[in-house]
Amino acid sequence: MNKYIKTIGLEVHIRIKSKTKMFCSCLNAVALAEEPNINICPVCMGFPGMLPVLNKEVVKLWLIWGMMMWCEINKISRFDRKTYFYPDNPTAYQITQLYEPIVWKWKVKVLVDEQVREFAIHHMHLENDVWKLIHVWWKTLCDYNRSGSPLMEIVTDPVFHNKEEVMEFLKELQKLMRAWWVSDADMEKWQMRCDVNISVALEWSNELWCRTETKNVNSFSAIWRVIDHESKRQIKILESWWVVEQETRWWDDDTGTSKSQRSKEDTMDYRCFPEPDLLPISLDDEFILEAKNSLPELPIEKRIRYLKDYKLSNDDVRLLTTNRELSEYFDKLVLLTNDSKKSCSYITTILLSMINESEIINWVNDLKFDIKELARVIELVNNDELSSTNSKQVIEELFINWGEVDIIVDENNLRQKNDMWSLEIIVNDVIVNNSKQVEDYKWWNVNIFGFLVGQCMKASKWQGNPKIFNELLKKKLD
Ligand SMILES: [Zn+2]
Repeated sequence: MNKYIKTIGLEVHIRIKSKTKMFCSCLNAVALAEEPNINICPVCMGFPGMLPVLNKEVVKLWLIWGMMMWCEINKISRFDRKTYFYPDNPTAYQITQLYEPIVWKWKVKVLVDEQVREFAIHHMHLENDVWKLIHVWWKTLCDYNRSGSPLMEIVTDPVFHNKEEVMEFLKELQKLMRAWWVSDADMEKWQMRCDVNISVALEWSNELWCRTETKNVNSFSAIWRVIDHESKRQIKILESWWVVEQETRWWDDDTGTSKSQRSKEDTMDYRCFPEPDLLPISLDDEFILEAKNSLPELPIEKRIRYLKDYKLSNDDVRLLTTNRELSEYFDKLVLLTNDSKKSCSYITTILLSMINESEIINWVNDLKFDIKELARVIELVNNDELSSTNSKQVIEELFINWGEVDIIVDENNLRQKNDMWSLEIIVNDVIVNNSKQVEDYKWWNVNIFGFLVGQCMKASKWQGNPKIFNELLKKKLD
């Protein structure tokens, strides 16, 4: 069988989380499922004669996001009017940026297999959303709440050649959106969706062959399946000496198949022309500087810092940078403890599993206890004043009833004993009471040493310092 190469390009649509809509002062209720038609006005309902006014906050969010990606900012950009009639579009046109978008030609840096890779973006533009149609049996209801909400469309060059790269890229985009609260980019809530362009060609051919576009894919697993399904479909066509047709396809996630929606011949003519109701956007240096100064540390910079400076494992780094709140919590803890390894393990193994099991605490920002208390737990463990086994009990107590670590430790008799004199008494007792094991240890079985340390720990009610027990036992038995 011939060898084929896949080439993939993406169009990613993201709902921006601004306070108000793009061209009017109605609330932009992106994530809220509430009553229909409460955030509406004549502008976003498309009444004739209404004039749009551009929302400065949207431009700023958009600009900040563009800067986070090291992209080229166009100081002057323009809006265009794309005319089409569809029942979900009140004005019969959409305001978008076709010819002079605000941001273009840049590269997104993504970690793929611990290597920094760059993927080229063709451009990014803004446009307004349409309303929502709700079909109820014999009638259709209209909800204008999201009409006029700002959408961001990011169009990549055809730069991906496998689904793993696509996934890493999309996850990075999602992280960046969340890092600056530009959007929650939750695919299940339709805050982020994707059109996937795929073209398959023989490996030796340098040309890009005909591509198809699969519309409205809204989960990572669906994108994964679309790439598989569509490339197999195209290979099958090529293997039987037919030609792949350029067309738009519609993905059905339930059946895992796609259907042809329209071919190139019936592509709509949008009659695009410059938007007459809006002036071009002209960005002055002060506005750009203001946006630049509010830039956060990028997720990729954070990950490289965790990997290189803190020497954390790849899995831990991934986990800690899943969202901004968690990585900020980790950063704060490291600042207090100066111990990145322990801060990481206490968060990833103990705290996150407690959060997973809790019905009240959903995330680190819901935690009721002061982060200084968690830092104190780590400090006590590092100073040999608390054993790591008992530290879990202290954190459980903090998690449920908050309070102060030192009080919890003393009230529960958990403070580790380090004085040689009292520990030596325990060791002597253990040696006397376990004479058979001691003999076995001396003659042939070194594994019994661990058992003897355990006996000392038990006798000290888990308060003795295991390091000191180790030393004392070694001194007495070897
Ligand atoms: Zn409005």
